[in-house]
Amino acid sequence: MTTVEASPVDVREGPLGLEVFARIDSPAGSLLSRCGGTVSRERTRHSVQIDHDQHLDLDPPLRYLNHCCEPNCGLLIRRGQCAIELYALCAIRAGQELTVDYATFEYEIGFMPGPCLCGAPCCRGRVTGFKDLPSDRIAAYGIYIAEHLRELVPAAPRSA
Ligand SMILES: [Zn+2]
Repeated sequence: MTTVEASPVDVREGPLGLEVFARIDSPAGSLLSRCGGTVSRERTRHSVQIDHDQHLDLDPPLRYLNHCCEPNCGLLIRRGQCAIELYALCAIRAGQELTVDYATFEYEIGFMPGPCLCGAPCCRGRVTGFKDLPSDRIAAYGIYIAEHLRELVPAAPRSA
């Protein structure tokens, strides 16, 4: 008899529409979710960029991840691969919203014209793409910068 573990993530209505929340406490470095989607040449409202000319329109639950300039999660995105993974960047408490920094996978942002609403102390003021991400943030994210973007930075780590 096998034990079925509950998914560590949950999608429910929050202040910004559907959002992704932690269902359980998880230590930093935990794998929280693995997700696929549909590959497209076009960026969509719910896609992540997986290569210079490829976007993955994500399946639930990860299609509802919101941006934060100081996120508690990172996505591991390997060049051209359609399975992406969500990891905790810090200790996560049950009930917290899970967020990622869109600049870790989008070279430029196509669908966020207004100011950033993340509320983080280090908020950059608007949702920026990788091309506008400060180099200290790139270094801090390490392997959680998508592989196709890491290739643009000679000093960044090459493999996960
Ligand atoms: Zn922000």
